[in-house]
Amino acid sequence: MDLNQLKVAVVGAGIGGLALARALALRGASVTVLEQAPEIREVGAGLQVSPNGVAVMRGLGLDQALLARRPVEAGAVSLRDAGGDEVLRLDLARHAPGQSHLCVHRADLIDVLAEGARAAGVRLRLLHKVDAVTPGPRPEIVTCRGARLRADLVIGADGLHSRLRPVLNPGAAPAFTRHVAWRAVLPETGTPAAEVRLYMGPKRHIVTYPLRGGTLRNLVAVEETPVWTEEGWSHAGDPDRLRALFSDFGPDVRDLLARVETVHRWGLFRHPVARRWHGEGTALVGDAAHPTLPFMAQGACLALEDAWVLAESLAEGTDMASGLSAYQQARQGRASRIVAAASRNAWKYHLSLPPLRRAGHMALRLGGRFAPG
Ligand code: FAD
Repeated sequence: MDLNQLKVAVVGAGIGGLALARALALRGASVTVLEQAPEIREVGAGLQVSPNGVAVMRGLGLDQALLARRPVEAGAVSLRDAGGDEVLRLDLARHAPGQSHLCVHRADLIDVLAEGARAAGVRLRLLHKVDAVTPGPRPEIVTCRGARLRADLVIGADGLHSRLRPVLNPGAAPAFTRHVAWRAVLPETGTPAAEVRLYMGPKRHIVTYPLRGGTLRNLVAVEETPVWTEEGWSHAGDPDRLRALFSDFGPDVRDLLARVETVHRWGLFRHPVARRWHGEGTALVGDAAHPTLPFMAQGACLALEDAWVLAESLAEGTDMASGLSAYQQARQGRASRIVAAASRNAWKYHLSLPPLRRAGHMALRLGGRFAPG
């Protein structure tokens, strides 16, 4: 299908939306991104971009711009028990030779994608919160300020609380997964090992890795908890409570947590992988289609893959309907498998009874490929 001058509106300037906007604009489409926020800014946090995500960045012509932001190339992933003893070491150079596994600051990734989108001619409209999307031959968007827009194709890249998703998949709202993530970025001291470390304990784990040339350190701590009582899904957390939560972990973790001054808590919500990823003139990408627990570090990488495959499928399809259908066919199975594997990792990381924990660690040793997060 000829994408030249196809009028596309993308809802959401996150990782998936910006990558798709550039991918379509490079193929000649006329793309506008509508973003609710007043500026394109990301939470201060890190992100692992595994080789599949890096490959999309390369395809978009943005890998060098990303490398210029000095992400840390991880040489290994080390899974450890709560005391700090290594359970499993994944040597990434041997596992995926020549393929980078990057530890990136989210703000850097978003910046590079936004600059890449603008450079390809994409129009970014901030303070445009979308209230409703109606599929059709010329799908319509209504913003919260009452503006109406039409396009040939509307993409819901608006994350977990997507406005388009429930139109295509009526049903339940996202549910709390009984997991809360605590996130912090700290100044690094000394010369850090270029690796991802994950410490596992009963109903909790911690992931940590260096960022920005080793000058910063990212930390994600996850706890299981039955309820999320706070309103919304992100809040300032109390560093002392975080330290108390992990006080029975070994000195590596305790020393790390002693340095935390500011931390945010995120209730992890999700709904099942969408059954329908597209309707007439509309499609979903990223978390809008398949929110995942972050325990494979694949949510953003999947959003990047979606963006690439959707643009390719549209370009190769005979018409829009066949392109959209090929996109769902190519993506749904893979996304479902990764989402399920991430949920299984929660079980393996958080086992409480020592014999079960030993069995779970054995399962991890035998488990092959993963990128924990
Ligand atoms: P989002 O990033 O949610 O972007 C959606 C955008 O849409 C936002 O800019 C939002 O403001 C905008 N928007 C929403 N609603 C509207 C509206 N109505 N109108 C207009 N705009 C709207 N993934 C990895 O690959 N590697 C990792 O290491 C990793 N670590 C993680 C750690 C944690 C603790 C968490 C919570 C997630 C992690 N993820 C990781 C997952 C990753 O962050 C998400 O999967 C990814 O950000 C999804 O991108 P997206 O573009 O689909 O959605």
